Amino acid sequence: EASAKAAAASAESGAPTIFDKIIAKEIPSTIVYEDDKVLAFRDISPQAPVHVLLIPKLRDGLTELGKAESRHGEILGHLLYVAKIVAEKEGIQDGFRVVINNGQQACQSVYHLHLHVLGGRQMKWPPG
Ligand code: ADP
Repeated sequence: EASAKAAAASAESGAPTIFDKIIAKEIPSTIVYEDDKVLAFRDISPQAPVHVLLIPKLRDGLTELGKAESRHGEILGHLLYVAKIVAEKEGIQDGFRVVINNGQQACQSVYHLHLHVLGGRQMKWPPG
């Protein structure tokens, strides 16, 4: 919880996150999809057989979904569309989950908007 608080505090300052280094390819990741606007790569701590993170390359104020403004509509729509492309590429199109953790109470730890695309096992509801 202390680290979640620290992450939230640093988000307020607009500090760069580890995802900037992944976008710049300064730290390695396993990329599963990329176009000019978004990047999808495998989560380092997978919570399902398929666990891909999907992010906008330009954060543009989107530290979290709760900061979205009208101008973000296009990139938000594109992210959802690409979530479906990723699910197809990963062979989980018949059963997958897309998750956005928003803020400290939802356990967000990286303040660069990201969609979790999860699948390859039976999911439970409600999520924890
Ligand atoms: P949480 O950490 O509670 O899942 P988030 O929704 O902010 O919160 O998710 C951040 C995700 O980023 C985590 O699933 C974490 O495993 C993943 N992650 C952190 N660092 C890396 C990295 N270097 N490469 C790939 N995934 C990473």
